[in-house]
Amino acid sequence: MALRNIRIQGDPVLAKTCREITEMTEKLEILIEDMLETMYEANGVGLAAPQVGILKRLVVMDCGDGPIVMINPVILETSGEQTGDEGCLSLPGKAGQVTRPNYVKARYLDEDMEECEIEATELLARCICHELDHLDGHMYTEHVIGALHDVQYEEDGE
Ligand code: ZN
Repeated sequence: MALRNIRIQGDPVLAKTCREITEMTEKLEILIEDMLETMYEANGVGLAAPQVGILKRLVVMDCGDGPIVMINPVILETSGEQTGDEGCLSLPGKAGQVTRPNYVKARYLDEDMEECEIEATELLARCICHELDHLDGHMYTEHVIGALHDVQYEEDGE
């Protein structure tokens, strides 16, 4: 396993649309391991492949209940609303208020390319929305209400 360089906002790779993954390869298995290690090392709760320079539809997350790997994730349903601080590992030291759905149902492939569905609320729902945005070249800063503020810790970095 190895740490990967996290791309910072302004890097053109963060503004691109990612491609679907069609098969699991050894290279992808290594990428997934590296992304998890990189996310944990940075105290993040989520990381999308473009944040390490790879334009594939792959995200990893851990909102406290263990790692989740999502390949080709799609949001099927959302409801409710939550407004809270959001940060991003591609914009260290900053956070801003973002309104997201409070409930998200998503479909994705796991590391074995098996189809899965997840129902998430609160932080995990926010995290899924944030990470999926990265796959289409979007940053949370596009949704921020008011101004970004400085944060001392990056514990909620995504
Ligand atoms: Zn992010």
